Amino acid sequence: MIRELFINVTILISSLFFYFQILKKDGTTRRSSIRRKLLLGTLTGLLGLILMEFGFLLDQGLLVDFRHIPVMLAATYAGWLPAVIAAVLIAGYRLTIGAGMAAYTAVLMLAVTTAGYLLIARKTRCVYRTILYMLLFHNVLSSIVTYTFFLEGEAFLRVIVPYWLLSFGTGIAAVYLTEYMRKINALFTEYEKNAFIDPLTGLNNVRRFDAAMNEVLSKKGTMSLCIIDIDHFKQVNDTYGHPEGDAILKQLGQLLKEHAMSGTVSRNGGEEFTIILPDYTKASAVQLAEGLRARIEQTPFYIFGGKETIELTVSIGVAAGRNNLYREADQALYQAKQNGRNRVCAAQTVNE
Ligand code: GH3
Ligand code: MG
Ligand code: MG
Repeated sequence: MIRELFINVTILISSLFFYFQILKKDGTTRRSSIRRKLLLGTLTGLLGLILMEFGFLLDQGLLVDFRHIPVMLAATYAGWLPAVIAAVLIAGYRLTIGAGMAAYTAVLMLAVTTAGYLLIARKTRCVYRTILYMLLFHNVLSSIVTYTFFLEGEAFLRVIVPYWLLSFGTGIAAVYLTEYMRKINALFTEYEKNAFIDPLTGLNNVRRFDAAMNEVLSKKGTMSLCIIDIDHFKQVNDTYGHPEGDAILKQLGQLLKEHAMSGTVSRNGGEEFTIILPDYTKASAVQLAEGLRARIEQTPFYIFGGKETIELTVSIGVAAGRNNLYREADQALYQAKQNGRNRVCAAQTVNE
């Protein structure tokens, strides 16, 4: 029997691992869609069937396996629907293995325990405590039923002692693995998101800027690029402090996003921003940049939590075409600074 239970453990643990590998981004929770819950319920049920298939069949018709653990996990993490679906599938399959006293008892047990798991899941917050209560409930109940109807004395102990030990170990290991995989998946999603986002402004960072440039360049057609740099920003920091400088960068980021519409806005570093404008000619990009410059000039920027406002200006370099866009826009920006700031300068040539 130990052999069968050991195989059950390995099937259970590896299935959990594969489940989380396949559904990397979003695992199933109580708030998932009905479709997702139906899928999880079916998968959980199927896992239960496999566990039964590899379970240990006693002479009395009793089938010993860990089919209850997937149901417990479904009840703990995903709510009643997946747990009930899994229980129904498992019950149906149990009846096909062999009808009789043992099978009917198993089905009844499954109904009672599933209801119990759902109640425990609702009442208990900590997942480890939840699984411990569930295992305790299940093992006590199944021990009573087994002792009353099927096994006695030494035969009972030979089955029940290893069963208790292994089922507790497996249940806790399954929750540990589930918690671990959920954490890893959440970190992975977070990492993926943050790898391309500037944490201060929420705009694209320079990595996403590079990717967006390459994407636009891979398609045909013209494009333009604006580089926007705040004028005398060092002075703002020196006067009001770095945190207020950060607040201004945030507000400016928001304004750029609103103004750029379909353009891709990034914070390329410090107080330097870019807007990638697919399909924009030089003239239309300059027009957009000029509108932006004027709007920033007229916008009050809030500092000290909105208690004070300051005025701000930017210089913008614009380049159009498909070659050396960044260098040309940067040179145009330099020219805008040289010519007295708070202005838009465009590169002379359009390099197609
Ligand atoms: P210019 O008109 O020539 O652009 O003058 P400037 O002072 O804006 O230019 P400079 O490049 O000398 O200074 C940029 C300043 O931007 C320096 C630094 O204090 C500030 N800065 C860069 N990154 C951040 C940031 O993340 N937060 C804040 N608050 N300030 C930053
Ligand atoms: Mg500057
Ligand atoms: Mg700068």
